[in-house]
Amino acid sequence: MAKKTKYIFVTGGVVSSLGKGISASSIGLLLKSRGLSVVNLKCDPYINVDPGTMNPFQHGEVYVTDDGSETDLDLGHYERFLSASLTKDHNLTSGQVYNTVITRERRGDYLGATVQVIPHITEEIKNRIKRFEKTENPPDVTIVEIGGTVGDIESLPFLEAIRQMGLEEGRDHVMYLHVTLVPYIRTAGELKTKPTQHSVKELRGIGIQPDMLLCRSEKAIDDDMRKKISLFCSVPMNAVITAEDVSTIYGVPLNLHAQGADKIVCDHFGWELPEPNIVEWEKMVETIINPQKHIKIGICGKYVHLKDAYKSIIESFVHAGVTSKAEVDLIWVSSEEIKKHGAEKFLHDLDGLLIPGGFGERGVEGKIEAIKYVRENNIPFFGICLGMQCAVIEYARNVCGLDDAHSYEFYRDLKHPVIHLMADQEGVTDLGGTMRLGAYPCTVIKGSKSEIAYGKTDVSERHRHRYELNNSYREMLTDNGLMMAGVSPDERLVEIVEIKVHPWFVGVQYHPELKSRPTEPHPLFRDFVKAAVTYKESKPENKKKNEADEVNVSK
Ligand code: GLN
Repeated sequence: MAKKTKYIFVTGGVVSSLGKGISASSIGLLLKSRGLSVVNLKCDPYINVDPGTMNPFQHGEVYVTDDGSETDLDLGHYERFLSASLTKDHNLTSGQVYNTVITRERRGDYLGATVQVIPHITEEIKNRIKRFEKTENPPDVTIVEIGGTVGDIESLPFLEAIRQMGLEEGRDHVMYLHVTLVPYIRTAGELKTKPTQHSVKELRGIGIQPDMLLCRSEKAIDDDMRKKISLFCSVPMNAVITAEDVSTIYGVPLNLHAQGADKIVCDHFGWELPEPNIVEWEKMVETIINPQKHIKIGICGKYVHLKDAYKSIIESFVHAGVTSKAEVDLIWVSSEEIKKHGAEKFLHDLDGLLIPGGFGERGVEGKIEAIKYVRENNIPFFGICLGMQCAVIEYARNVCGLDDAHSYEFYRDLKHPVIHLMADQEGVTDLGGTMRLGAYPCTVIKGSKSEIAYGKTDVSERHRHRYELNNSYREMLTDNGLMMAGVSPDERLVEIVEIKVHPWFVGVQYHPELKSRPTEPHPLFRDFVKAAVTYKESKPENKKKNEADEVNVSK
């Protein structure tokens, strides 16, 4: 008999931002480590077809997959925790679902029927959730995270669809996991279970009885309280799991495993499996918790107040830090402040600077000033996408002497548009899904720092941009010392620039942060962090300290 895929549905209650994505990823990791094949997917209840057109202020980072889909940042967690490579099929939105149903209705596919949320929208949701079951290698388990919070109007069709699946697949093939909040009321010095009770009541009102609760809390939840939650929510006490705040998200799977969460899943589905093999993961978490060095890296961007906009970059530094056994302290620097007060004030004691991707001209002059400072002061620099484009503009202006060098993205009548529109972007007017998106091959030039990092010359990286280095300036930039360290295989597009006579100055047109994994850091982030450690240790004051330490040791 063909194996039947089991489903774990992850819902959230009380408030958003409880870490449903991390919970779904952690359960996925534990099951995968027990030898199962696992697929994670995310349902987003908003009407946008994808998050590509959304402001990162509202929605956080847009996570681009290999196949060029612009998806929710939770897919980043899934890829990082499960070392998976996901596609457009792993993120479905109300926008996509309604788009499909309405297109079919216009074609007359519904043969005169009244098209309704139930059954037509819910049917389409279920088909999309179940699409992996119909592939050549159906997964053992599909973990489906439902975005939003139970009680939101817009998530109702998704909750109805997963309720129906419990009925249709059979309750021993479906598990409902509810992530909820047990707040600590400081003035009373008490944890409160009432919001959890209400949220589970709401879920049961829709017809879904959770099988497991993950109770997020800033304090440990004692057994009396778990018993109370168990009683009111009708969930066995051993399945009331406490998910206390931890210092690193990578510690969450270990915490869940310690409480037997993955065992409960196995018991529910009748699986007898070996204990998960998480030795590597434990070592990695141990290194993150006990760093031996500390470095400070500045991130100079537009959205410095909203860390979710740079989620993958932040995680990449955690991964890269593991190799150097270093904690990377990220210092958020506003490019507009640099423009106002100069770069020295903000950058003088940093060990490295990263300029991330971005859109729009706001803050660009500050970024260019910051790059000039680190270039001239030999501070390690890593530019990503817009960050690389800014590095090219800075070099053209201050080294090649092209005073008004700029990007065609910001000004159309430039004398020196050193960053220009890609040829295949001419005439594109729609904003959604029209950039150069997804994985493209890149040839890394021998002898570059990037080649040292990658240890090979053929790589594949993910892109999300419209503009590129203008080929008319390639020769001039090269002649003045900017190395074209990576190009597309047909050599038409410059993908990496480097400065040879600098300790570590690398700009990439793509987004390496999307491919970094906790136990497999991205080579460029890894080497950037190493360069920052070396830079810090070579500062005169640290050199003296290191020598003194050596003397102490040899005594
Ligand atoms: N705005 C730039 C472009 O479209 C850079 C994009 C980015 O940094 N992701 O080319």
